[in-house]
Amino acid sequence: MRKVFDFHGGIHPTENKHQSVRTPIANAGIPPELIIPLSQHIGAPARPVVSIGEHVLKGQMIAEAIGFVSVPVHAPTSGTIHAIEDRLIAHPSGHLAPCIVITTDGQDEWEKHGGVSDYQTLKTADLIRIIRNAGIAGMGGAGFPSAVKLSVKADTQIHTLIINGTECEPYITADDILMREQASAIIEGTKILQQMIAPKNTLIGVEDNKPEGIAALRAAAQGTGIEIVTFPTKYPSGGEKQLIEILTGQQVPSGGLPSEVGVVCQNIGSTVAIFNAVVHGQPLISRITTVTGESIREPQNFEVLIGTPVQYLIEKAGYQYEKNNRLIMGGPMMGFTIPDTGVPIVKTTNCVLAPTEKELSTPPPAQACIRCGMCAEVCPASLLPQQMFWFAQGKEFEKLEEHNLFDCIECGACSFACPSNIPLVQYYRASKSEILQLRHDHEIAEQSRIRFESRQQRLEQAEQDKEAKRAARKIAAQQRAEAAQESGAEDPIQAAIDRAKTKKAAQQQTSMGEESEREKREKAVVSIAKRLATATSKLEQAEAENSDLVDALQTGVDKTREKLAAAEQALKDCEQCLDTDSAEQHPSDAAQVAIERAMEARTIEASLSPQEKARVDLEKLQKRLEKSQAVLIQSQENAAEEKVIEALESTVARLTAKINALQQQLSAAEEA
Ligand code: SF4
Ligand code: SF4
Repeated sequence: MRKVFDFHGGIHPTENKHQSVRTPIANAGIPPELIIPLSQHIGAPARPVVSIGEHVLKGQMIAEAIGFVSVPVHAPTSGTIHAIEDRLIAHPSGHLAPCIVITTDGQDEWEKHGGVSDYQTLKTADLIRIIRNAGIAGMGGAGFPSAVKLSVKADTQIHTLIINGTECEPYITADDILMREQASAIIEGTKILQQMIAPKNTLIGVEDNKPEGIAALRAAAQGTGIEIVTFPTKYPSGGEKQLIEILTGQQVPSGGLPSEVGVVCQNIGSTVAIFNAVVHGQPLISRITTVTGESIREPQNFEVLIGTPVQYLIEKAGYQYEKNNRLIMGGPMMGFTIPDTGVPIVKTTNCVLAPTEKELSTPPPAQACIRCGMCAEVCPASLLPQQMFWFAQGKEFEKLEEHNLFDCIECGACSFACPSNIPLVQYYRASKSEILQLRHDHEIAEQSRIRFESRQQRLEQAEQDKEAKRAARKIAAQQRAEAAQESGAEDPIQAAIDRAKTKKAAQQQTSMGEESEREKREKAVVSIAKRLATATSKLEQAEAENSDLVDALQTGVDKTREKLAAAEQALKDCEQCLDTDSAEQHPSDAAQVAIERAMEARTIEASLSPQEKARVDLEKLQKRLEKSQAVLIQSQENAAEEKVIEALESTVARLTAKINALQQQLSAAEEA
């Protein structure tokens, strides 16, 4: 008889297990729709490998594992992929998660598959691959991928393999019924695990409240060397660390893994799944789930397809919704209330509990802590729940971690024992989530910081390299110059650089400075010369016709001529314009013609004597005066604008003054 040990704390809640083991495991059947979450395990969610509208067969992989800590997902029956979308899943926070939705066809048609009955011929690596490909994750707890758990490092000595048949939560009998009905599959699965791990001891630990299961296991295990170890019922003996302590007397260190004390643990359900995967080639597509509580007419255990909606399952068991106060996924100690009956059964769903209010009453409001210490007394992890409660309230996360918050297995024993009805475990769950989120945020920030710093380093290094090259070039140039000086020869590189610099400076000056100014002035000359040519031509024509416009045109020609003279002077003033070669090249031919014509007109005028020119000018001025006076009189009669009349009056006065001056000048000349 193997000696068993006890762990610290623990409680004895009412078991309520008998209701659901009165009948054998029933097949829940095929619901019209299966909702299969891509993440039913710890680790990376699986990635879909099917598309909407595709027909799939039972057992066909519909989502593949990505990464080492991940498992694939398979179609639990044949049907058509209806959707790949976010659906409400069973989670304490009631959140949506990516799911593959299958519309079942009722045919339940298997994909071709086959197992290895003589698994003894397989190597450990092959067995691990089979277990991984079958999508097996721990079915009694958080869903840790079994293949990862069984991938023990070569230098790790495992002396004990423990199969966990404890099932200590009240109400739940899924493992108990498996032991009763499928004991030989459990033993065969255990033998496969033995082959993989080669432990000295193989123990199946079962609480003494399951006599039928224990008897069945003992019968199946005869002659195998597998020990069925029983021990007194106490909650939470099923906790992995607690069970290891019960069976071996060893304590897994805080934050450590069972392998650190030479132990590997597997759940009863996972062991059967491993047997089915290896021997029958079947992936994990269904599980045993207890449906119980006083709101269920026929509490029992079902073999349920993964993805079956809770509503479908509880109706199979005679759900009386009018009696039910809440639906719990899991047991009353560690389970959580589900927000909607449409959520699916997943690989870790061991129980759906539908209690009445009388059976599991809503907890009364929490009172102040009376420091009774009951919570610490019952804590199986030897924690200080009261202190952790204070720290959780104050969000003192560092202190919570110092008090080993992450050793808390969320068993709820402290909440159960608390006379002040403080929902202690809920505080710990919330704090864990917040800490994990903070760690995640910190990791992201740390990665960003590292990326930023490496970039800065790269930039600084590049700058240093550039500086080093600059310095090397400078030294080389100096050395060349010195060498050239010594030899009396010109440094060819420096000379080339100097020439390039001079050329560049000249180009810049030409394009940005005087060149543009000169062009501007040349353009002005050309433009005015054109205008002068046009005006002169018109004037000649008017004079030939003895037109009234001669005077006005003459004024225009005079002004334009003045402007041309000014522009020419400005062009000359421009230093660059002194470069006559350049200046002659720029004006266009038309402009040159215009300038020449204007010059010609000036030459003709210049050939007149001053008196002749004065007479011509006097005549022109008198004509202009007459014309201006006529326009003024007409404007006054037409009541033109004041400023127009003023301008015309000014013109008349100016012309009159000019005529008088010219007449005086002519008279004086004639008298002389
Ligand atoms: S059991 Fe409740 S009341 Fe007692 S010390 Fe713990 S938290 Fe306080
Ligand atoms: S929930 Fe955590 S703190 Fe409370 S008794 Fe269980 S292990 Fe201890």
